[in-house]
Amino acid sequence: MNQFVWSRQFGEARVTVISEGGGWWPLERALEDVPADECRRWVKVNDREQIWITFNLVHVALPHASLLLDTGFGEYDPTDPAKPLVSVHDIRLTPGRDAGLASIGVAPEDITHVLVSHMHGDHIVGATRVVDGRRVPSFPNARYVVMEAEWASAPEWHQRADAINAQKEALLAANRVDLVAGEREIVAGVSFIPAPGESPGHAIVRLATGDGIVYYLGDLFHQPAEFTHLDWIPRYRDRAALIASRERLLPRFVAESAWLIPAHHDFPCIGRVEPDGQGYRWVAARG
Ligand SMILES: [Zn+2]
Repeated sequence: MNQFVWSRQFGEARVTVISEGGGWWPLERALEDVPADECRRWVKVNDREQIWITFNLVHVALPHASLLLDTGFGEYDPTDPAKPLVSVHDIRLTPGRDAGLASIGVAPEDITHVLVSHMHGDHIVGATRVVDGRRVPSFPNARYVVMEAEWASAPEWHQRADAINAQKEALLAANRVDLVAGEREIVAGVSFIPAPGESPGHAIVRLATGDGIVYYLGDLFHQPAEFTHLDWIPRYRDRAALIASRERLLPRFVAESAWLIPAHHDFPCIGRVEPDGQGYRWVAARG
């Protein structure tokens, strides 16, 4: 992958999407209870019954704050077959998060807040790193903001419990964690909003700028077809909760004509949702 960093100015905010890579996700896990033929009408499937997804995180530069939305893999190597972190195969990595941040002039020390959408491996294992044999926060001056319900429930059974527990222990030891509940403004213009289902305390981020509203959606949606089929959901999620979160938030996205950034769409992920008959459809923006 050549291009892995995308930036755009929205009013006073510079929003940057950084891709850490992509890989092949087995259809049987990516879309539970959807017949393969029906999937193929909506989703590109390879001859091994897999779909391509990418791994992305977001940086928001404001005059008064420097926010990272999810930590990504960071220094963790998700391609190590001895330590599978996600059920995605043949992962191809980009130069990565820190190279992406450096390319826009952001050093780890500059980050003031890390907002964690949820504590699945691909979103949280980059929270810390090992320095001189000791695990420390990757962003030494940042507050790490997580929903209480997420912190209490993670790691869920299907994740690499050791890798996620290592993040929790090191962040707690460094006294870097702010647990929140309900919709909450984190800094002026940036709100953290519960959107459970992908995990018990999954949350999305709303950025209000002088040039429109931008949401980072984390894993509220994983691929464009889910905006049309609100009940298309990966295995091992709380289906009822995820559908309810989608139904609750989609009218808000439409009413606000918001820009949307899901974590796993094709890079650079940005687009909008439009009403379509009784439902909705995803419209990718040209990067
Ligand atoms: Zn994810």
